[in-house]
Amino acid sequence: PIAKMDYIWFNGELVEWDKATIHVMSHVVHYGSSFFEGLRCYETPQGPAIFRLTPHMRRLIDSAHIYRTKLPYTLEELVAAVKATVKANRLRAGYIRPVVYRGYSEIGVNPLGNPVEVAIATIEWGKYLGAEAMEQGVDVCVSSWNRFAPNTMPAMSKAGGNYMNSQLIKMEALANGYSEGIALDTNGQVSEGSGENLFVVRDGVVYTPPAGSSILTGITRDSVITLLGDLGIEVREQVIPREMLYIADELFFTGTAAEITPIRSVDRITVGAGRRGPITEQVQSTFFRIVHGEQADTHGWLEYAE
Ligand code: PMP
Repeated sequence: PIAKMDYIWFNGELVEWDKATIHVMSHVVHYGSSFFEGLRCYETPQGPAIFRLTPHMRRLIDSAHIYRTKLPYTLEELVAAVKATVKANRLRAGYIRPVVYRGYSEIGVNPLGNPVEVAIATIEWGKYLGAEAMEQGVDVCVSSWNRFAPNTMPAMSKAGGNYMNSQLIKMEALANGYSEGIALDTNGQVSEGSGENLFVVRDGVVYTPPAGSSILTGITRDSVITLLGDLGIEVREQVIPREMLYIADELFFTGTAAEITPIRSVDRITVGAGRRGPITEQVQSTFFRIVHGEQADTHGWLEYAE
């Protein structure tokens, strides 16, 4: 279970953790009408730094906007609210979960008559796929579940309902003894993990599926593309056939929870040398130096809580 922290920011004020509750007849409970974000806060010599806070809150607004939903707070107010929650909970390093949902009023499918509510929680959280995985890599499978087709569920909206698809991918992978599943899109091309974007390395070039392959355009993905550019490594956003996974020199996941996690096998076929490869290691170590304040934050990615 989640370890409680002191406060949750709940519709404009900090309330005690146990008081941030909703009614069972809330629209979100029945129809998945929520939008959320996941952010990490890192400990640095200048205090707790929230990684790319403003882009995350912008994505939250966009996720809701796709669903004709206007948040009752501005971008600036949401950014300030996250900082206030981190401060109130004295969070030094951990995970931040803002969530917007349709509350309690009507029973029908139409969400528009229901209140738009906002909560922000913080929790302590270590490595999503295990500490050892960051070095050794994880064993994954190609899922029998596809990502949703274009123009069905909007993949660029980080909406609660989308995660029913992620849950199918994750449960199947775990049931079959893998750490994670990679979904193909409805054209059979590589899409992403249940909660991570995917990168493929072959002959010194890095490939990642484009936005058109039913992916969430991850903020870690964007950061890694930038870091690879800084390191002088070529990146191509292009369609990736499934078989590229098996003949890759290196594979890795990116995501707020997963950070940068190497993949050492797909469907029990060894990837490259079967451990973290040199490009993965280079981008991973650069990423961690920046977020821990050990290397200049030249892109302005760290937003300090105080
Ligand atoms: N894809 C999916 C389906 C996700 O849930 C996540 C996690 N938010 C990502 C990709 C990675 O996105 P980010 O780097 O912004 O956390």
